[in-house]
Amino acid sequence: MRASQLFARTLRDAPAGEEAPSAQLLLRGAFVRKVMAGVYTFLPLGLRVLRKVEGIVREEMDAAGAQECLMPGMVPSEPWKATGRWQAYGEDMFKLTDRAGREIGLGPTHEEVITPIVDADFSSYRDLPVNLYQIQWKYRDEPRPRSGLIRGREFLMKDAYSFDKDADGLREAYRKMVEAYRRIFERCGLDFRVVEADPGLIGGDVNHEFMAPADIGEDLFVHCTACDYAANVQAASSRAPEGPPDEDLQPMNVVETPGRATIEAVSEFLEIPPERMLKCLLYRAGDGLVAVLVPGDREVNEGKLARALAPSAVEMLTDEDFRRAGLVRGFVGPQGLEGVTVIADPHVRAGANWVTGANKEDHHATGVNVDRDFRVDRWEDVSTVQDGDPCPRCDEGTLRVGRAIEVGHTFQLGTRYSEPLRARFLDEDGKEREFLMGCYGIGVSRIVAAVVEQHHDDAGIVWPKALAPFDAVVIPTNMDQEDVIRTAEALYGELRDRGTEVVIDDREVGAGVKFADAELIGFPLALVVGSRGLASGVVEAKFRATGDRRDLPVGEAAEAVPGLLAEAP
Ligand code: ATP
Ligand code: MG
Repeated sequence: MRASQLFARTLRDAPAGEEAPSAQLLLRGAFVRKVMAGVYTFLPLGLRVLRKVEGIVREEMDAAGAQECLMPGMVPSEPWKATGRWQAYGEDMFKLTDRAGREIGLGPTHEEVITPIVDADFSSYRDLPVNLYQIQWKYRDEPRPRSGLIRGREFLMKDAYSFDKDADGLREAYRKMVEAYRRIFERCGLDFRVVEADPGLIGGDVNHEFMAPADIGEDLFVHCTACDYAANVQAASSRAPEGPPDEDLQPMNVVETPGRATIEAVSEFLEIPPERMLKCLLYRAGDGLVAVLVPGDREVNEGKLARALAPSAVEMLTDEDFRRAGLVRGFVGPQGLEGVTVIADPHVRAGANWVTGANKEDHHATGVNVDRDFRVDRWEDVSTVQDGDPCPRCDEGTLRVGRAIEVGHTFQLGTRYSEPLRARFLDEDGKEREFLMGCYGIGVSRIVAAVVEQHHDDAGIVWPKALAPFDAVVIPTNMDQEDVIRTAEALYGELRDRGTEVVIDDREVGAGVKFADAELIGFPLALVVGSRGLASGVVEAKFRATGDRRDLPVGEAAEAVPGLLAEAP
Protein backbone atom coordinates (compact mmCIF):
# COMPACT_ATOMS: atom_id res chain seq x y z
CA MET A 1 0.00 0.00 0.00
CA ARG A 2 1.19 3.48 -0.87
CA ALA A 3 0.67 6.14 1.76
CA SER A 4 0.12 8.64 -1.07
CA GLN A 5 -3.03 6.69 -2.00
CA LEU A 6 -4.15 5.37 1.38
CA PHE A 7 -7.31 6.99 2.68
CA ALA A 8 -5.80 7.98 5.98
CA ARG A 9 -5.61 11.68 6.82
CA THR A 10 -4.11 11.78 10.29
CA LEU A 11 -5.12 14.57 12.65
CA ARG A 12 -2.78 16.60 14.79
CA ASP A 13 -5.37 16.98 17.55
CA ALA A 14 -8.23 14.80 18.66
CA PRO A 15 -11.70 16.21 17.95
CA ALA A 16 -13.25 17.91 20.97
CA GLY A 17 -15.25 15.79 23.37
CA GLU A 18 -13.23 12.59 23.06
CA GLU A 19 -11.57 11.84 26.36
CA ALA A 20 -10.50 8.20 26.23
CA PRO A 21 -6.95 7.85 24.89
CA SER A 22 -8.10 5.07 22.54
CA ALA A 23 -10.86 7.23 21.06
CA GLN A 24 -8.42 10.10 20.52
CA LEU A 25 -5.72 7.95 18.96
CA LEU A 26 -8.04 5.92 16.73
CA LEU A 27 -9.52 9.16 15.39
CA ARG A 28 -6.18 10.92 15.03
CA GLY A 29 -4.59 7.90 13.34
CA ALA A 30 -7.45 7.73 10.80
CA PHE A 31 -8.65 4.32 11.92
CA VAL A 32 -12.23 5.45 12.47
CA ARG A 33 -14.49 8.43 11.94
CA LYS A 34 -17.44 9.30 14.13
CA VAL A 35 -20.79 9.35 12.34
CA MET A 36 -22.96 10.12 15.38
CA ALA A 37 -22.90 9.38 19.10
CA GLY A 38 -21.78 5.78 19.55
CA VAL A 39 -21.65 5.08 15.79
CA TYR A 40 -18.42 4.92 13.80
CA THR A 41 -17.14 4.21 10.31
CA PHE A 42 -14.09 2.00 10.11
CA LEU A 43 -11.66 3.50 7.59
CA PRO A 44 -9.18 1.25 5.73
CA LEU A 45 -6.65 1.16 8.59
CA GLY A 46 -9.29 0.52 11.23
CA LEU A 47 -11.00 -2.16 9.19
CA ARG A 48 -7.70 -4.03 8.80
CA VAL A 49 -7.32 -4.09 12.60
CA LEU A 50 -10.95 -5.12 13.11
CA ARG A 51 -10.54 -7.94 10.58
CA LYS A 52 -7.47 -9.19 12.44
CA VAL A 53 -9.36 -9.38 15.71
CA GLU A 54 -12.20 -11.15 13.89
CA GLY A 55 -9.71 -13.59 12.36
CA ILE A 56 -8.27 -14.53 15.75
CA VAL A 57 -11.74 -14.93 17.25
CA ARG A 58 -12.90 -17.06 14.32
CA GLU A 59 -9.86 -19.35 14.42
CA GLU A 60 -10.19 -20.02 18.11
CA MET A 61 -13.96 -20.50 18.02
CA ASP A 62 -13.61 -22.95 15.11
CA ALA A 63 -10.80 -24.77 16.94
CA ALA A 64 -13.08 -25.12 19.98
CA GLY A 65 -15.69 -26.83 17.82
CA ALA A 66 -18.16 -23.96 17.48
CA GLN A 67 -19.78 -23.43 14.06
CA GLU A 68 -20.15 -20.03 12.47
CA CYS A 69 -23.47 -18.77 11.20
CA LEU A 70 -24.88 -15.28 10.62
CA MET A 71 -28.13 -14.10 12.11
CA PRO A 72 -29.95 -10.98 10.98
CA GLY A 73 -29.52 -7.59 12.59
CA MET A 74 -33.32 -7.21 12.45
CA VAL A 75 -35.29 -9.36 14.85
CA PRO A 76 -39.02 -10.07 15.33
CA SER A 77 -40.58 -8.92 18.59
CA GLU A 78 -42.57 -12.10 19.43
CA PRO A 79 -39.80 -14.28 20.93
CA TRP A 80 -38.53 -11.22 22.79
CA LYS A 81 -41.93 -10.74 24.31
CA ALA A 82 -42.02 -14.43 25.26
CA THR A 83 -38.77 -14.12 27.23
CA GLY A 84 -39.80 -10.79 28.73
CA ARG A 85 -36.82 -8.99 27.25
CA TRP A 86 -38.82 -6.73 24.90
CA GLN A 87 -39.88 -5.08 28.18
CA ALA A 88 -36.71 -5.65 30.17
CA TYR A 89 -34.39 -4.10 27.58
CA GLY A 90 -36.79 -1.19 27.34
CA GLU A 91 -35.24 1.86 25.72
CA ASP A 92 -31.86 0.18 25.37
CA MET A 93 -33.34 -1.76 22.45
CA PHE A 94 -33.84 -0.01 19.11
CA LYS A 95 -37.39 -0.70 17.97
CA LEU A 96 -39.05 -0.03 14.65
CA THR A 97 -42.30 -0.79 12.88
CA ASP A 98 -42.51 -2.25 9.38
CA ARG A 99 -45.05 -1.19 6.72
CA ALA A 100 -47.52 -3.83 7.93
CA GLY A 101 -47.33 -2.41 11.44
CA ARG A 102 -45.28 -5.30 12.84
CA GLU A 103 -42.87 -4.47 15.64
CA ILE A 104 -39.26 -5.22 14.87
CA GLY A 105 -36.13 -4.81 16.94
CA LEU A 106 -32.46 -4.36 16.13
CA GLY A 107 -30.70 -7.24 17.88
CA PRO A 108 -28.77 -6.26 21.02
CA THR A 109 -27.90 -10.00 21.38
CA HIS A 110 -29.47 -13.08 19.76
CA GLU A 111 -30.71 -15.74 22.18
CA GLU A 112 -34.26 -15.18 20.93
CA VAL A 113 -33.23 -15.86 17.32
CA ILE A 114 -31.00 -18.90 17.69
CA THR A 115 -33.06 -20.80 20.27
CA PRO A 116 -36.18 -21.27 18.09
CA ILE A 117 -33.97 -22.34 15.17
CA VAL A 118 -32.16 -25.04 17.15
CA ASP A 119 -35.48 -26.10 18.65
CA ALA A 120 -37.05 -26.51 15.23
CA ASP A 121 -34.16 -28.47 13.72
CA PHE A 122 -32.99 -30.58 16.67
CA SER A 123 -35.41 -32.86 18.46
CA SER A 124 -33.33 -35.59 20.08
CA TYR A 125 -30.57 -35.87 22.68
CA ARG A 126 -28.62 -37.60 19.88
CA ASP A 127 -28.39 -34.26 18.05
CA LEU A 128 -26.61 -32.60 20.98
CA PRO A 129 -24.33 -30.89 21.83
CA VAL A 130 -24.00 -28.00 19.41
CA ASN A 131 -22.42 -24.56 19.68
CA LEU A 132 -23.29 -21.89 17.10
CA TYR A 133 -21.61 -18.52 16.86
CA GLN A 134 -21.63 -15.40 14.73
CA ILE A 135 -19.67 -12.20 14.35
CA GLN A 136 -22.38 -9.62 13.86
CA TRP A 137 -23.18 -5.95 14.47
CA LYS A 138 -25.23 -5.35 17.59
CA TYR A 139 -27.48 -2.43 18.39
CA ARG A 140 -28.04 -0.96 21.83
CA ASP A 141 -29.28 2.52 22.56
CA GLU A 142 -26.79 2.87 25.42
CA PRO A 143 -27.74 5.70 27.79
CA ARG A 144 -24.15 6.92 27.81
CA PRO A 145 -22.30 6.04 24.61
CA ARG A 146 -18.75 7.05 25.42
CA SER A 147 -15.09 6.33 24.99
CA GLY A 148 -15.38 5.75 21.25
CA LEU A 149 -15.45 2.07 20.34
CA ILE A 150 -15.58 1.01 23.97
CA ARG A 151 -19.26 1.79 24.38
CA GLY A 152 -20.91 2.13 20.99
CA ARG A 153 -24.55 1.98 20.02
CA GLU A 154 -23.63 -0.13 16.98
CA PHE A 155 -20.74 -2.48 17.72
CA LEU A 156 -19.31 -5.74 16.49
CA MET A 157 -19.77 -8.71 18.79
CA LYS A 158 -18.92 -12.37 18.59
CA ASP A 159 -21.75 -14.21 20.26
CA ALA A 160 -21.90 -17.97 20.71
CA TYR A 161 -24.71 -20.17 22.02
CA SER A 162 -24.24 -23.72 23.27
CA PHE A 163 -27.01 -26.29 23.58
CA ASP A 164 -26.59 -29.36 25.77
CA LYS A 165 -28.69 -32.19 27.09
CA ASP A 166 -27.44 -32.12 30.68
CA ALA A 167 -25.47 -30.14 33.24
CA ASP A 168 -22.22 -32.03 32.60
CA GLY A 169 -22.48 -31.19 28.93
CA LEU A 170 -23.07 -27.52 29.68
CA ARG A 171 -20.10 -27.41 32.04
CA GLU A 172 -17.87 -28.94 29.36
CA ALA A 173 -19.12 -26.53 26.68
CA TYR A 174 -18.47 -23.66 29.09
CA ARG A 175 -14.97 -24.87 29.94
CA LYS A 176 -14.08 -25.04 26.24
CA MET A 177 -15.31 -21.49 25.68
CA VAL A 178 -13.37 -20.11 28.65
CA GLU A 179 -10.22 -21.77 27.29
CA ALA A 180 -10.86 -20.36 23.80
CA TYR A 181 -11.42 -16.90 25.30
CA ARG A 182 -8.11 -17.04 27.14
CA ARG A 183 -6.30 -17.85 23.89
CA ILE A 184 -8.15 -15.12 21.99
CA PHE A 185 -7.25 -12.37 24.47
CA GLU A 186 -3.66 -13.60 24.75
CA ARG A 187 -3.25 -13.56 20.97
CA CYS A 188 -4.72 -10.03 20.85
CA GLY A 189 -1.95 -8.91 23.20
CA LEU A 190 -4.34 -7.98 26.00
CA ASP A 191 -3.47 -8.10 29.65
CA PHE A 192 -6.66 -9.58 31.10
CA ARG A 193 -8.19 -11.21 34.18
CA VAL A 194 -10.98 -13.73 34.34
CA VAL A 195 -13.27 -12.52 37.10
CA GLU A 196 -16.37 -13.84 38.80
CA ALA A 197 -19.24 -11.69 37.67
CA ASP A 198 -22.46 -10.53 39.28
CA PRO A 199 -24.69 -13.61 39.12
CA GLY A 200 -27.72 -11.37 38.66
CA LEU A 201 -31.01 -12.03 40.33
CA ILE A 202 -31.40 -15.59 39.10
CA GLY A 203 -29.15 -17.14 41.72
CA GLY A 204 -26.76 -19.95 40.94
CA ASP A 205 -25.88 -18.82 37.44
CA VAL A 206 -22.19 -19.26 36.78
CA ASN A 207 -20.70 -16.47 34.78
CA HIS A 208 -17.34 -14.84 34.23
CA GLU A 209 -16.18 -11.57 32.81
CA PHE A 210 -12.93 -11.10 30.97
CA MET A 211 -11.52 -7.82 32.16
CA ALA A 212 -8.74 -5.80 30.54
CA PRO A 213 -7.26 -3.47 33.18
CA ALA A 214 -7.31 0.16 31.99
CA ASP A 215 -7.59 3.54 33.74
CA ILE A 216 -10.67 4.55 31.77
CA GLY A 217 -12.45 1.21 32.37
CA GLU A 218 -16.04 1.51 33.62
CA ASP A 219 -15.92 -1.71 35.63
CA LEU A 220 -14.33 -2.04 39.05
CA PHE A 221 -12.91 -5.43 39.87
CA VAL A 222 -10.99 -6.79 42.82
CA HIS A 223 -8.13 -9.23 42.77
CA CYS A 224 -6.10 -10.90 45.48
CA THR A 225 -2.41 -10.13 45.89
CA ALA A 226 -1.66 -13.74 46.83
CA CYS A 227 -4.08 -16.13 45.08
CA ASP A 228 -6.07 -16.11 41.84
CA TYR A 229 -9.31 -14.81 43.36
CA ALA A 230 -10.75 -12.07 41.14
CA ALA A 231 -14.28 -10.75 41.00
CA ASN A 232 -16.32 -7.83 39.76
CA VAL A 233 -16.93 -5.42 42.63
CA GLN A 234 -20.63 -6.11 42.11
CA ALA A 235 -20.00 -9.75 43.02
CA ALA A 236 -16.91 -9.62 45.23
CA SER A 237 -16.81 -10.46 48.92
CA SER A 238 -14.03 -10.24 51.47
CA ARG A 239 -13.22 -12.40 54.47
CA ALA A 240 -15.66 -11.58 57.28
CA PRO A 241 -13.80 -10.06 60.20
CA GLU A 242 -13.69 -11.79 63.55
CA GLY A 243 -15.82 -10.33 66.30
CA PRO A 244 -16.90 -9.09 68.71
CA PRO A 245 -13.93 -6.88 69.63
CA ASP A 246 -12.20 -6.92 72.99
CA GLU A 247 -13.74 -3.70 74.24
CA ASP A 248 -15.79 -2.82 77.34
CA LEU A 249 -19.38 -2.03 76.47
CA GLN A 250 -20.33 1.53 77.28
CA PRO A 251 -23.81 2.55 78.29
CA MET A 252 -26.00 3.92 75.50
CA ASN A 253 -26.25 7.67 75.52
CA VAL A 254 -28.21 10.15 73.40
CA VAL A 255 -26.36 13.30 72.33
CA GLU A 256 -27.39 16.38 70.39
CA THR A 257 -26.12 16.64 66.80
CA PRO A 258 -27.98 19.69 65.49
CA GLY A 259 -28.37 19.63 61.70
CA ARG A 260 -25.83 16.81 61.28
CA ALA A 261 -27.56 14.17 59.18
CA THR A 262 -24.64 12.58 57.30
CA ILE A 263 -21.85 10.24 58.40
CA GLU A 264 -19.21 12.90 57.60
CA ALA A 265 -20.99 15.68 59.45
CA VAL A 266 -21.57 13.63 62.60
CA SER A 267 -18.10 12.12 62.48
CA GLU A 268 -16.60 15.62 62.35
CA PHE A 269 -18.92 17.07 64.98
CA LEU A 270 -18.43 14.27 67.53
CA GLU A 271 -14.78 13.73 66.54
CA ILE A 272 -15.11 10.01 65.96
CA PRO A 273 -13.87 8.21 62.82
CA PRO A 274 -16.54 7.11 60.30
CA GLU A 275 -15.72 3.43 60.89
CA ARG A 276 -17.08 3.76 64.45
CA MET A 277 -20.42 4.90 63.13
CA LEU A 278 -23.23 2.57 62.17
CA LYS A 279 -24.89 3.41 58.90
CA CYS A 280 -28.58 2.47 58.93
CA LEU A 281 -30.23 2.61 55.51
CA LEU A 282 -33.89 1.93 54.92
CA TYR A 283 -35.37 0.17 51.92
CA ARG A 284 -38.70 -1.12 50.80
CA ALA A 285 -38.50 -4.81 49.79
CA GLY A 286 -41.77 -6.04 48.36
CA ASP A 287 -44.41 -5.17 50.97
CA GLY A 288 -42.03 -4.80 53.92
CA LEU A 289 -39.44 -2.37 55.20
CA VAL A 290 -35.81 -3.36 55.63
CA ALA A 291 -33.06 -1.63 57.62
CA VAL A 292 -29.55 -2.37 56.39
CA LEU A 293 -26.57 -1.88 58.72
CA VAL A 294 -22.96 -1.38 57.62
CA PRO A 295 -20.04 0.43 59.29
CA GLY A 296 -19.95 4.14 58.40
CA ASP A 297 -16.89 3.81 56.17
CA ARG A 298 -18.52 1.16 53.98
CA GLU A 299 -21.11 1.27 51.20
CA VAL A 300 -24.19 -0.89 50.86
CA ASN A 301 -23.86 -2.87 47.65
CA GLU A 302 -27.30 -2.71 46.08
CA GLY A 303 -26.63 -5.70 43.80
CA LYS A 304 -25.79 -7.92 46.76
CA LEU A 305 -28.73 -6.55 48.71
CA ALA A 306 -31.09 -7.22 45.79
CA ARG A 307 -29.83 -10.82 45.65
CA ALA A 308 -30.24 -11.27 49.40
CA LEU A 309 -33.82 -10.04 49.19
CA ALA A 310 -34.83 -11.61 45.85
CA PRO A 311 -37.41 -12.14 44.53
CA SER A 312 -38.69 -8.98 46.25
CA ALA A 313 -37.75 -5.83 44.38
CA VAL A 314 -35.71 -3.40 46.50
CA GLU A 315 -36.30 0.36 46.47
CA MET A 316 -35.05 3.30 48.52
CA LEU A 317 -37.64 4.81 50.86
CA THR A 318 -39.44 7.97 49.86
CA ASP A 319 -40.01 10.91 52.25
CA GLU A 320 -43.62 9.79 52.45
CA ASP A 321 -42.53 6.27 53.53
CA PHE A 322 -40.38 7.83 56.27
CA ARG A 323 -43.27 9.90 57.53
CA ARG A 324 -45.66 6.97 57.55
CA ALA A 325 -43.19 4.76 59.46
CA GLY A 326 -42.55 7.58 61.94
CA LEU A 327 -38.84 7.67 61.12
CA VAL A 328 -36.59 10.72 60.90
CA ARG A 329 -34.47 10.79 57.77
CA GLY A 330 -30.78 11.29 58.61
CA PHE A 331 -31.25 10.24 62.23
CA VAL A 332 -32.34 6.60 61.93
CA GLY A 333 -30.78 3.96 64.17
CA PRO A 334 -31.62 0.26 64.56
CA GLN A 335 -32.65 0.62 68.25
CA GLY A 336 -36.24 -0.38 68.80
CA LEU A 337 -37.18 -0.59 65.14
CA GLU A 338 -40.49 -2.42 65.06
CA GLY A 339 -42.03 -4.02 62.00
CA VAL A 340 -38.78 -3.60 60.11
CA THR A 341 -36.47 -6.47 59.13
CA VAL A 342 -32.94 -5.62 60.32
CA ILE A 343 -30.18 -6.94 58.05
CA ALA A 344 -26.57 -6.43 59.15
CA ASP A 345 -23.33 -6.91 57.25
CA PRO A 346 -20.80 -9.26 58.97
CA HIS A 347 -18.50 -6.25 59.46
CA VAL A 348 -20.98 -5.00 62.06
CA ARG A 349 -20.17 -8.03 64.20
CA ALA A 350 -16.59 -6.80 64.54
CA GLY A 351 -17.53 -3.49 66.11
CA ALA A 352 -18.87 -2.27 69.44
CA ASN A 353 -20.04 0.98 71.01
CA TRP A 354 -21.42 2.26 67.74
CA VAL A 355 -22.58 5.80 67.10
CA THR A 356 -25.83 5.83 65.13
CA GLY A 357 -29.07 7.76 64.70
CA ALA A 358 -31.25 8.16 67.81
CA ASN A 359 -34.53 8.10 65.81
CA LYS A 360 -35.07 11.67 66.92
CA GLU A 361 -34.49 14.86 64.93
CA ASP A 362 -30.98 16.31 65.56
CA HIS A 363 -29.90 13.49 67.90
CA HIS A 364 -27.52 10.55 67.70
CA ALA A 365 -26.93 7.67 70.10
CA THR A 366 -23.47 6.59 71.29
CA GLY A 367 -22.38 3.31 72.90
CA VAL A 368 -24.92 1.36 70.83
CA ASN A 369 -24.33 -2.41 70.90
CA VAL A 370 -25.74 -5.36 68.99
CA ASP A 371 -28.13 -7.64 70.92
CA ARG A 372 -28.22 -5.35 73.94
CA ASP A 373 -29.57 -2.26 72.15
CA PHE A 374 -30.77 -3.59 68.83
CA ARG A 375 -31.55 -6.95 67.26
CA VAL A 376 -30.30 -8.30 63.93
CA ASP A 377 -32.80 -10.47 62.05
CA ARG A 378 -30.42 -11.57 59.31
CA TRP A 379 -26.65 -11.41 58.84
CA GLU A 380 -25.90 -10.94 55.13
CA ASP A 381 -22.86 -9.90 53.15
CA VAL A 382 -24.29 -6.69 51.67
CA SER A 383 -21.34 -4.27 51.71
CA THR A 384 -19.03 -3.36 48.87
CA VAL A 385 -15.52 -4.73 49.11
CA GLN A 386 -12.81 -2.14 49.70
CA ASP A 387 -9.19 -1.93 48.67
CA GLY A 388 -7.13 -3.59 51.41
CA ASP A 389 -9.81 -6.02 52.63
CA PRO A 390 -8.63 -9.59 53.34
CA CYS A 391 -9.14 -12.15 50.56
CA PRO A 392 -12.16 -14.43 51.06
CA ARG A 393 -10.35 -17.38 49.49
CA CYS A 394 -6.82 -17.51 50.90
CA ASP A 395 -5.22 -16.65 54.24
CA GLU A 396 -2.43 -14.30 53.18
CA GLY A 397 -3.85 -12.14 50.42
CA THR A 398 -5.17 -8.61 50.38
CA LEU A 399 -7.75 -7.41 47.88
CA ARG A 400 -6.88 -4.63 45.46
CA VAL A 401 -9.49 -2.72 43.49
CA GLY A 402 -8.76 -1.82 39.88
CA ARG A 403 -10.53 -0.42 36.79
CA ALA A 404 -11.04 -2.52 33.73
CA ILE A 405 -12.82 -2.80 30.39
CA GLU A 406 -15.07 -5.84 30.00
CA VAL A 407 -13.97 -7.50 26.76
CA GLY A 408 -15.86 -10.77 27.12
CA HIS A 409 -18.59 -12.41 29.14
CA THR A 410 -19.41 -16.10 29.45
CA PHE A 411 -22.66 -17.31 30.96
CA GLN A 412 -24.15 -20.67 31.94
CA LEU A 413 -27.77 -19.85 31.21
CA GLY A 414 -29.38 -23.20 31.91
CA THR A 415 -33.03 -23.03 30.85
CA ARG A 416 -33.46 -19.26 31.16
CA TYR A 417 -34.37 -18.98 27.44
CA SER A 418 -35.33 -22.55 26.51
CA GLU A 419 -38.07 -22.49 29.15
CA PRO A 420 -40.04 -19.41 28.01
CA LEU A 421 -39.37 -20.29 24.35
CA ARG A 422 -40.41 -23.93 24.98
CA ALA A 423 -37.27 -25.20 23.27
CA ARG A 424 -37.11 -28.92 24.05
CA PHE A 425 -35.67 -32.23 22.92
CA LEU A 426 -36.45 -35.87 23.73
CA ASP A 427 -34.00 -37.44 26.18
CA GLU A 428 -32.82 -41.09 26.41
CA ASP A 429 -36.08 -42.09 28.11
CA GLY A 430 -38.28 -40.36 25.54
CA LYS A 431 -39.04 -37.54 27.97
CA GLU A 432 -39.24 -33.91 26.83
CA ARG A 433 -36.55 -31.70 28.32
CA GLU A 434 -35.47 -28.13 27.88
CA PHE A 435 -32.09 -27.44 26.30
CA LEU A 436 -29.38 -26.36 28.71
CA MET A 437 -27.82 -23.30 27.16
CA GLY A 438 -24.72 -21.22 27.55
CA CYS A 439 -23.99 -17.90 25.89
CA TYR A 440 -20.62 -16.35 25.28
CA GLY A 441 -19.92 -12.81 24.08
CA ILE A 442 -16.81 -10.97 22.98
CA GLY A 443 -16.72 -7.30 22.11
CA VAL A 444 -14.80 -7.48 18.83
CA SER A 445 -14.81 -3.75 18.10
CA ARG A 446 -14.32 -3.01 21.82
CA ILE A 447 -11.12 -5.11 21.76
CA VAL A 448 -9.66 -2.74 19.16
CA ALA A 449 -10.05 0.13 21.64
CA ALA A 450 -9.07 -1.90 24.71
CA VAL A 451 -5.80 -2.89 23.03
CA VAL A 452 -5.07 0.77 22.29
CA GLU A 453 -5.80 1.68 25.92
CA GLN A 454 -3.17 -0.83 27.01
CA HIS A 455 -0.69 -0.21 24.20
CA HIS A 456 0.03 3.44 23.53
CA ASP A 457 2.48 6.18 24.46
CA ASP A 458 2.65 9.94 23.99
CA ALA A 459 3.45 9.54 20.30
CA GLY A 460 0.59 7.21 19.43
CA ILE A 461 -0.50 3.60 19.22
CA VAL A 462 1.88 0.69 19.76
CA TRP A 463 0.04 -2.18 18.07
CA PRO A 464 0.88 -5.71 19.06
CA LYS A 465 2.04 -7.39 15.85
CA ALA A 466 -1.03 -9.63 15.66
CA LEU A 467 -3.39 -6.65 15.30
CA ALA A 468 -1.29 -4.03 13.51
CA PRO A 469 -2.91 -2.81 10.28
CA PHE A 470 0.47 -3.34 8.56
CA ASP A 471 3.64 -5.00 9.82
CA ALA A 472 6.04 -2.39 8.57
CA VAL A 473 6.38 1.01 6.93
CA VAL A 474 9.20 1.94 4.54
CA ILE A 475 10.10 5.61 4.96
CA PRO A 476 12.17 7.33 2.29
CA THR A 477 13.33 10.50 4.05
CA ASN A 478 14.62 12.54 1.10
CA MET A 479 12.04 12.59 -1.69
CA ASP A 480 14.31 14.70 -3.88
CA GLN A 481 17.06 12.08 -4.06
CA GLU A 482 16.76 9.43 -6.66
CA ASP A 483 18.87 6.75 -4.96
CA VAL A 484 16.78 7.11 -1.79
CA ILE A 485 13.54 6.65 -3.73
CA ARG A 486 14.96 3.81 -5.79
CA THR A 487 16.23 1.92 -2.73
CA ALA A 488 12.99 2.46 -0.81
CA GLU A 489 10.86 1.30 -3.75
CA ALA A 490 13.03 -1.78 -4.23
CA LEU A 491 12.78 -2.66 -0.55
CA TYR A 492 9.01 -2.13 -0.60
CA GLY A 493 8.64 -4.34 -3.70
CA GLU A 494 10.77 -7.09 -2.26
CA LEU A 495 8.90 -7.06 1.08
CA ARG A 496 5.57 -7.30 -0.73
CA ASP A 497 6.86 -10.21 -2.81
CA ARG A 498 7.79 -11.95 0.42
CA GLY A 499 4.29 -11.46 1.76
CA THR A 500 5.04 -8.78 4.36
CA GLU A 501 2.13 -6.41 4.96
CA VAL A 502 3.92 -3.18 4.20
CA VAL A 503 3.26 0.47 3.46
CA ILE A 504 5.66 2.81 1.66
CA ASP A 505 5.35 6.39 2.76
CA ASP A 506 5.87 7.92 -0.68
CA ARG A 507 4.16 11.21 0.17
CA GLU A 508 5.90 14.43 -0.78
CA VAL A 509 6.17 15.59 2.81
CA GLY A 510 9.02 16.11 5.23
CA ALA A 511 10.66 13.24 7.08
CA GLY A 512 9.38 14.61 10.41
CA VAL A 513 5.77 14.29 9.29
CA LYS A 514 6.38 10.72 8.15
CA PHE A 515 8.03 9.74 11.42
CA ALA A 516 5.23 11.29 13.45
CA ASP A 517 2.54 9.52 11.42
CA ALA A 518 4.38 6.19 11.63
CA GLU A 519 4.46 6.50 15.41
CA LEU A 520 0.86 7.67 15.63
CA ILE A 521 -0.44 4.82 13.45
CA GLY A 522 1.81 2.39 15.27
CA PHE A 523 3.46 0.17 12.67
CA PRO A 524 5.54 -2.36 14.65
CA LEU A 525 8.58 -1.75 12.40
CA ALA A 526 9.79 1.27 10.43
CA LEU A 527 12.47 0.91 7.77
CA VAL A 528 14.11 4.27 7.22
CA VAL A 529 15.87 4.90 3.92
CA GLY A 530 17.86 8.14 3.96
CA SER A 531 20.80 9.61 2.14
CA ARG A 532 23.03 9.51 5.18
CA GLY A 533 22.42 5.79 5.73
CA LEU A 534 22.82 4.99 2.07
CA ALA A 535 26.23 6.68 2.07
CA SER A 536 27.36 3.93 4.40
CA GLY A 537 25.23 1.30 2.66
CA VAL A 538 22.57 0.84 5.36
CA VAL A 539 18.85 1.10 5.97
CA GLU A 540 17.77 1.76 9.55
CA ALA A 541 15.18 -0.48 11.19
CA LYS A 542 13.33 0.97 14.15
CA PHE A 543 11.03 -0.91 16.52
CA ARG A 544 7.91 1.02 17.53
CA ALA A 545 7.52 -0.70 20.89
CA THR A 546 11.05 -0.25 22.22
CA GLY A 547 12.52 2.48 20.05
CA ASP A 548 15.50 0.19 19.39
CA ARG A 549 17.31 0.86 16.13
CA ARG A 550 19.37 -1.44 13.97
CA ASP A 551 21.38 -0.82 10.81
CA LEU A 552 20.73 -3.31 8.02
CA PRO A 553 23.00 -3.59 4.96
CA VAL A 554 20.87 -2.41 2.02
CA GLY A 555 21.15 -5.69 0.12
CA GLU A 556 20.03 -7.75 3.13
CA ALA A 557 17.29 -5.50 4.52
CA ALA A 558 14.26 -7.28 3.04
CA GLU A 559 15.59 -10.65 4.08
CA ALA A 560 16.13 -9.45 7.66
CA VAL A 561 12.60 -8.13 8.16
CA PRO A 562 10.79 -11.40 9.05
CA GLY A 563 13.40 -12.03 11.75
CA LEU A 564 12.99 -8.49 13.09
CA LEU A 565 9.21 -8.82 13.12
CA ALA A 566 9.53 -12.05 15.06
CA GLU A 567 11.35 -10.04 17.73
CA ALA A 568 8.63 -7.38 17.91
CA PRO A 569 6.01 -7.91 20.63
P1 ATP B 1 -21.39 -3.71 29.59
O1 ATP B 1 -21.55 -4.08 31.04
O2 ATP B 1 -20.03 -3.16 29.26
O3 ATP B 1 -22.51 -2.89 29.06
P2 ATP B 1 -22.71 -6.10 28.84
O4 ATP B 1 -22.65 -6.89 30.07
O5 ATP B 1 -23.93 -5.38 28.48
O6 ATP B 1 -21.46 -5.09 28.81
P3 ATP B 1 -22.82 -8.38 27.09
O7 ATP B 1 -24.26 -8.24 26.84
O8 ATP B 1 -22.33 -9.51 27.91
O9 ATP B 1 -22.23 -7.01 27.62
O10 ATP B 1 -22.08 -8.37 25.67
C1 ATP B 1 -20.92 -9.15 25.37
C2 ATP B 1 -19.72 -8.27 25.10
O11 ATP B 1 -20.01 -7.27 24.13
C3 ATP B 1 -19.24 -7.49 26.31
O12 ATP B 1 -18.40 -8.30 27.10
C4 ATP B 1 -18.50 -6.34 25.67
O13 ATP B 1 -17.17 -6.73 25.37
C5 ATP B 1 -19.24 -6.11 24.39
N1 ATP B 1 -20.14 -4.94 24.48
C6 ATP B 1 -21.27 -4.83 25.22
N2 ATP B 1 -21.84 -3.63 25.08
C7 ATP B 1 -21.03 -2.94 24.21
C8 ATP B 1 -21.09 -1.64 23.63
N3 ATP B 1 -22.08 -0.80 23.91
N4 ATP B 1 -20.09 -1.27 22.78
C9 ATP B 1 -19.09 -2.11 22.48
N5 ATP B 1 -18.99 -3.35 22.98
C10 ATP B 1 -19.95 -3.78 23.83
MG1 MG C 1 -24.32 -3.34 28.50
